[in-house]
Amino acid sequence: MFKLPELPYDYSALEPHIDTKTMEIHHSKHHAGYVENLNKALSKYEDLQKLAIEELLKNSNDLPEDIRQTVINNAGGHANHSLFWEILSPKGGGKPTGELAKAIESQFGSFEKFKEEFSTKATTLFGSGWVFLNVCKDKSLEIKRHSFQNSPLLHGKTPIFGLDVWEHAYYLKYQNKRSEYVDAFWNIVNWDKVLQNYEVLT
Ligand code: MN
Repeated sequence: MFKLPELPYDYSALEPHIDTKTMEIHHSKHHAGYVENLNKALSKYEDLQKLAIEELLKNSNDLPEDIRQTVINNAGGHANHSLFWEILSPKGGGKPTGELAKAIESQFGSFEKFKEEFSTKATTLFGSGWVFLNVCKDKSLEIKRHSFQNSPLLHGKTPIFGLDVWEHAYYLKYQNKRSEYVDAFWNIVNWDKVLQNYEVLT
């Protein structure tokens, strides 16, 4: 059985960038819903219940046909949101440090250019989805968009940072102004956590 992780801060902690009501619904209804639907889908497959969420997604081709798409959607939703809560912090913002800062600079030219590319991809993504910073098999970084809850793990890449651009992530406060939500997001990024995620993989 998969479990909804607790947030590492209060629902109100990310105000004014992400409002309390949005955080509460996003975590206790949307994320909880993915966990619930995932457990339901796996209910008759006991050995799959024992796998780590990453294993389910990395080996999605081996999943039984009757639950494959449901697992991709809901294990993806669970993994994506679990990452998202962790890379946010009321004490966030600023810039990446350490080896991650170096890698971003050498691959994207500068942190500002990285931020611009990531923000553009987030604001122009059509429909519901995510923008991720992934570590590829050769350890290089890539900014990649995915529709729905599709996880980079499905493609053998590991996300270390991501932004949820489903309307449920921002609509109560920002309505149609997704770009304002994307701008606000940079104020609450927990770069220490993103660096940790990077260091584990490199
Ligand atoms: Mn979401």
